[in-house]
Amino acid sequence: MKYDVRSMKAEEFINDEEIRETVKYAGEHKNDIELIDEILKRAKERKGLNHRDASVLLACSNEDKIKEIYDLAEQIKKDFYGNRIVLFAPLYLSNYCVNGCLYCPYHMKNKHITRKKLTQEEVAREVVALQDMGHKRLAIEAGEDPVNNPIEYILDCINTIYSIRHKNGAIRRVNVNIAATTVENYRRLHDAGIGTYILFQETYNKKNYEALHPTGPKHDYAYHTEAMDRAMEGGIDDVGIGVLFGLDNYAYEFAGLLMHAEHLEAVHGVGPHTISVPRVKHADDIDPTDFDNSLSDDMFCRIAACIRIAVPYTGMIISTRESAKVREKIIRLGVSQISGGSRTSVGGYCEDERPHDTEQFDVSDDRTLDEVVNWLMRAGYIPSFCTACYREGRTGDRFMSLCKSGQIQNCCHPNALMTLKEFLIDYASEDTGRIGEEVIEREIENIPKEAVRDIVRERLVKIAEGDRDFRF
Ligand code: SAM
Repeated sequence: MKYDVRSMKAEEFINDEEIRETVKYAGEHKNDIELIDEILKRAKERKGLNHRDASVLLACSNEDKIKEIYDLAEQIKKDFYGNRIVLFAPLYLSNYCVNGCLYCPYHMKNKHITRKKLTQEEVAREVVALQDMGHKRLAIEAGEDPVNNPIEYILDCINTIYSIRHKNGAIRRVNVNIAATTVENYRRLHDAGIGTYILFQETYNKKNYEALHPTGPKHDYAYHTEAMDRAMEGGIDDVGIGVLFGLDNYAYEFAGLLMHAEHLEAVHGVGPHTISVPRVKHADDIDPTDFDNSLSDDMFCRIAACIRIAVPYTGMIISTRESAKVREKIIRLGVSQISGGSRTSVGGYCEDERPHDTEQFDVSDDRTLDEVVNWLMRAGYIPSFCTACYREGRTGDRFMSLCKSGQIQNCCHPNALMTLKEFLIDYASEDTGRIGEEVIEREIENIPKEAVRDIVRERLVKIAEGDRDFRF
């Protein structure tokens, strides 16, 4: 097997030998200041870096250069994403699963976890609860089970979610995190109007991947790794990739992740829409210390910074697997989307107390959505509930060109302010409402075009009068 970024074979575009050579090369140059300076100079052009150069930055052991890496990541994040943070919540539909993933409590051999699958009535109740928190964007999650959770079930759920209108609420974007499937099924998901199709690679190391997935359809490394190519063939052009950090060596995973992004860009002309950086967490019968690749919070943040520099146009997602403290640090370095008020159990949003019996992993940040919104604003961010891009046809390379043209500030920024205004009126506590109004007043001035600023002012008045869902 030889490395070939354009190959459609998993083991050629995620090539073990190339990854090992990359990690070795990075280790050999971790103190090579001349090379690191040269890489940083190129990175400052904001056109990204390939997996080799980015791996050298990740390995760098010079304190001054590490600080430069962090500063550059922060600056790139500001340039492309401003101070907006998009909010979403996961919605667990079913924990029936036929796979044997060793890190996931939904694995088939787990006989004591309660198995649950939402009926359409229960999906509707969960959606009402999520709308009442203020959510507009969901990521649906399900185990893999062709009998209990066939694609028809997932499609029914998507239809139900989009159909629920409760008070001023609406779910305007449904992202989908389900197991690798066929081109035909991806086409059906695309036709159902999904946002991003998300699938974590878990680990790019084939040998370890096969050991961690000993049974079930997910055992097939090639089928899993080539899923995004099938998704794109099925018409989905916003795909989200990710690694479950802790399963394998982080430097190996980092190189694999970037090689995957390079492959999608080379073959389909558009890289991943998002990259997620989950870490293995404690869950029902799962003990994260069983996997001896856990990484420090510092290295975790460095990975995020290096991803930001390597793929400036790709959104980055951090979930409530991480504590408020880690989230605060990592958001600054390049994260553009976070979940808030999450429950990782099937049917969890309808319960008064957080249920643990069907949870996929323990949540470290258990604040309410209002508390998360409040915290973000106090830290200088604009919480955004925007879902405009894919509804305006700005997906795939059309989204990327918006990013590259710098027009985001005339588009995403106003959309963030208008959707924040909706949240403040419909769902926020008094304190959050007060801070939010100040944020909006201040941030309107940062819309570059005067004409856009005037329209936003008019629309904010209309939102206060009861109108909803304005967007650029
Ligand atoms: N079942 C689908 C699949 O196999 O891709 C996707 C949904 S699964 C509910 C979502 C993700 O949760 C998995 O891809 C995995 O990375 C992550 N996950 C599983 N167990 C976890 C754990 N113990 N801690 C943190 N994340 C976990």
